[in-house]
Amino acid sequence: MQQANTIDGRAIARAVRTEVRSKVDAWTAGGRRPPYLTVVLVGDNPASASYVRGKMRASAQAGIAGDTLRFESSLTEESLLGVIDRLNADRSVDGILVQLPLPGHINDRRIIARLSPDKDVDGLHVVNAGRLAAGQAGFVPCTPAGIMELLRRSGITTSGKRAVVVGRSNLVGKPLAQLLMQKGADATVTVCHSRTRNLSVVCREADILVAAIGRAGLITAGMIKPGAVVIDVGINRVDDPARERGYRLAGDVDFEAARRVAGWITPVPGGVGPMTIAMLLSNTLFAAQRHAAGNNNRA
Ligand code: NAP
Repeated sequence: MQQANTIDGRAIARAVRTEVRSKVDAWTAGGRRPPYLTVVLVGDNPASASYVRGKMRASAQAGIAGDTLRFESSLTEESLLGVIDRLNADRSVDGILVQLPLPGHINDRRIIARLSPDKDVDGLHVVNAGRLAAGQAGFVPCTPAGIMELLRRSGITTSGKRAVVVGRSNLVGKPLAQLLMQKGADATVTVCHSRTRNLSVVCREADILVAAIGRAGLITAGMIKPGAVVIDVGINRVDDPARERGYRLAGDVDFEAARRVAGWITPVPGGVGPMTIAMLLSNTLFAAQRHAAGNNNRA
């Protein structure tokens, strides 16, 4: 029975992280300070705290310096805006990452809009979204950037291919569609969402099918063209009494069935997820290089 090639996101992310480490070493060997990342964490959401720990650990391993600013969930929006202003003005900080979601009384959009676009290593500021749409250099959100890297390093070409992206969030679906359609990637892109009619029919036309939905197993084997590349971005908790913690992680794709139809597939976990942190490191190095090029007198 045919089985798809599994795209090993952990191995590819390791390779990216090793490369970033070498570039950081070369950068600091020239007498420059290491790139510096500040993460802002508000509240006590355990998942957010765990993501932040993972990001800081990976940064340290890549030779990137940094710190985490933690605040109580009662922090006001005005105070957080003040923190962002201070970090924007601090020449020793290259990258700022505000861990989302923020507590309900703080408007995420207003906070992200206050970031200096040149320190926005998550690529969420509208200036960076605009740069991406216009094909200009800027910060690209880490998950879609990681997906392009997974494809490239797996030897999967996109030129002339029909790509279908299910999901239109600013974080994943929209920027990924931009990346796939831009000159050089040259895919023909369709973006689907919750109002798309005949989703199965559209998905079955895809040479490259990306699921960024947040619904476990929504993409079934019957929605996949034989031999297609299937990229599963979804991270969903599915009840699993057999596990001590009571759940397991599952993607948006019915993996076991899909791998019998697809040509290539990413697993969950171990596919797209590890790439997100790897691209954050790459973006932070890029931020430091841009600041130095802008004569920020950082050396
Ligand atoms: P999101 O903002 O909730 O967007 C989900 C998208 O899916 C929306 O565009 C929505 O359509 C669409 N959708 C929902 N139900 C649908 C359906 N039945 N048919 C077709 N489209 C449907 O989510 P997100 O932030 O993009 O994240 C998507 C998934 O990726 C989540 O599971 C998230 O945890 C995961 N994720 C993983 C990583 C990683 O590092 N691997 C990073 C980010 C996100 P509408 O626009 O019409 O509502």
